[in-house]
Amino acid sequence: MRRDKWKILTTQVDYDKYTVPIYDSVGRSKCIPLLKTLMSSFCTNNCKFCAFRCGRKTRRERWEPEELAKVTLKLWKERKIQGLFLSSSVERDPDLAVEKQIETVRILRKLGFTAYCHLRLMPSVNRELIKQSVELADRVGINIEFPRAEYYNDMKIFLNFRQDIIKRMKFLSREVKKAQEEGKCKAGLDSQMIVGAVNETDKEILQISEWLYSKLKARRVYFSAFEPIKNTPLENQKPEKKWREYRLYQSSFLIQRYGFKAEDFVLNEFENLLPNQDPKFLVAKKSALFVDVNNAKFRELIRVPGIGIETAKKIISLRNSGVRLSSEKKLKEVGVILKRAVPFLKISSLRKLTYFV
Ligand code: SF4
Repeated sequence: MRRDKWKILTTQVDYDKYTVPIYDSVGRSKCIPLLKTLMSSFCTNNCKFCAFRCGRKTRRERWEPEELAKVTLKLWKERKIQGLFLSSSVERDPDLAVEKQIETVRILRKLGFTAYCHLRLMPSVNRELIKQSVELADRVGINIEFPRAEYYNDMKIFLNFRQDIIKRMKFLSREVKKAQEEGKCKAGLDSQMIVGAVNETDKEILQISEWLYSKLKARRVYFSAFEPIKNTPLENQKPEKKWREYRLYQSSFLIQRYGFKAEDFVLNEFENLLPNQDPKFLVAKKSALFVDVNNAKFRELIRVPGIGIETAKKIISLRNSGVRLSSEKKLKEVGVILKRAVPFLKISSLRKLTYFV
């Protein structure tokens, strides 16, 4: 195996001293080192933003399933990785690409690899292959990339948005649910979107994120700020600002874990989130939130900036055991971030309301 094959087939990774590409996947509470790689970087498609679009001069490589399985197994046994995150370009057709991904995981499982496997499938993939993927992998996703069909046309992605993406995602979601009932595919469904390559708005992205979380029960929706790549049609387009990606992550987290709706967020006249202000704070301010800490329901408490899910649980538990939260000191002890929460909390000894960003 040529050493630079790693570099060609991997993205967004750090290289350890053996030039192994390690991608730190950040879960809810921990960071998991994964081998993140493409099955192949040969592609017949021509997506405008992509480094691997066909016709672009670049060095390309591919793994054979057996070869990748052996490499993954070795790294896992050496404790360099705790799992595999496998995507691909579309070398000939989407089904063939996914068949190779599945074959790799199948070999790995036969060889005793019990670690985490994450498969990113190709849009439009055949339904039978989706079923096989959820049987073998811990997490399975399809990249949505853009929130509307028009943007697919703009980017020269020749897919039927409704048929090849939305319907496939719905099917995948149903299959994941069935697999989870049998204790498989425990890490669920995920997806990813590129931000800032087209003129999509944050409102559109938040709406589709809400759909993914509430209807399809997605476990993660990733955002990737657009960066222009040389020798692509978008090489002269400006990179997207990182703060936008960050605000989208904050907002989608509020949708997923705190029950916010896309329509709750404060947007500017272009239907985008504001750069300098925290989305949760803005929603609380807009709705003139004022919560009685000693009587509010759980879902009301978690709307308060500075009160997270664990802190709200502690507040409810203390109240249930007869404790009255009547001072800033007590709130601080249970984990409330006073600077952010005080303006929105009703509690006898708290100071006059002042907004802090
Ligand atoms: S199908 Fe994937 S790899 Fe191929 S050009 Fe489009 S984004 Fe790039």
